[in-house]
Amino acid sequence: MKDVLPRRARPVDRPGGMGDPGTPGKFGAYGGRFVPESLVPACAELEEAFRDAWSDPGFQSSLATLLALHVGRPTPLTPAWRLSAELGVNLLLKREDLAHTGSHKINNVLGQALLARRMGRTRLIAETGAGQHGVATATAAGLLGLRATVFMGERDIERQALNVFRMRILGAEVVPVHSGSRTLKDATSEAMRHWVSSLEDSHYCVGSVVGPYPYPWIVREFQRVIGDEARGQCATALDSGSPDYVVACVGGGSNAAGTFAGFVNTSAKFVGVEAEGGAGASAGRVGVLHGFRSLFLQDDDGQISEAHSIAAGLDYPGVGPEHAYLRDLGRARYVTVTDAEVVDATLRLARTEGIVPALESAHAVAWVIRAAESGELPACANVMLTLSGRGDKDLSTLMELL
Ligand SMILES: *Cc1c(COP(=O)(O)O)cnc(C)c1O
Repeated sequence: MKDVLPRRARPVDRPGGMGDPGTPGKFGAYGGRFVPESLVPACAELEEAFRDAWSDPGFQSSLATLLALHVGRPTPLTPAWRLSAELGVNLLLKREDLAHTGSHKINNVLGQALLARRMGRTRLIAETGAGQHGVATATAAGLLGLRATVFMGERDIERQALNVFRMRILGAEVVPVHSGSRTLKDATSEAMRHWVSSLEDSHYCVGSVVGPYPYPWIVREFQRVIGDEARGQCATALDSGSPDYVVACVGGGSNAAGTFAGFVNTSAKFVGVEAEGGAGASAGRVGVLHGFRSLFLQDDDGQISEAHSIAAGLDYPGVGPEHAYLRDLGRARYVTVTDAEVVDATLRLARTEGIVPALESAHAVAWVIRAAESGELPACANVMLTLSGRGDKDLSTLMELL
């Protein structure tokens, strides 16, 4: 498939500035819009609608009100006192685990739901793997009076019965996908097919900084609230005003992108932490999937590999195009941790700070522990870490392991 975006370039922000990428939808060599002809007008309409909404103080204020009254924003920046003392660094946790529904995903989904309503759409379409994005979409639909249709692989439906039930309680329709490996990749393809046939009344709600342009940009902007809040909170909490390191876990990369965006004009070093078995930015090669060019895990024939991680939310074989670009620029570094390190980090945070993190978020904690103990982090370094979600959903996984 060819990139259908026009070559004509709009003025864009300076490289790596995490601003408006402009109409070509390129993040360096990555991004773009690799979609069937029939989806081109929908992507173009969405880009225009977002540009218009994002510069409208009325839209901004409606979203800010929802985030404050329904999500509970701003989320706190919590010093990890005891773990910091053990590690010899100063660790601050941005508490997305305290957002309504237990993770950062709601920030993006509420933004897209509000945008969909503004565009006159009455239904959200989404795909989900572990069910977290489906639950967030169903929640936003419930709140804003939209219908929700969530595509989910048959195997995932069996594995995630509780989240399926939760979506149904919230009024969403969950559609089983029987094709292929009956997991996330197939659910995504099916959701896109369905979107083509219901463009009139439906908005396709993408769950991370992936997909055809403008999605990687829109989702990063809706998650920017994490980084903007944390930047202000660091200014108060730190003598230096800004942290030395900013760390977040990376699946598709939305919580990391939103976090990095708030600190892009500081000298903070960015670290994105991936699962060893889902390390698109660390071990991927250039390819095209789900409408965009980026780095994907592939076999020798260029077939996209299945990702594997103890954390279902990091089970994606690629990474958002802007992360691939930030890596090329050297602005951000991407590292991996093992499942075993993640389980240790989960227990360590629980027992030093009384916080059970999501297994996804524990990836970021695991890297900080390793880097502090190996001396890679200088003594007393100020580290701002986005704790993307809470661990309740992972208790049964931990129970089987421990
Ligand atoms: C979905 C999820 C992630 C991974 O998504 P990103 O787009 O990389 O942020 C990370 N943490 C939690 C808690 C999640 O639910």
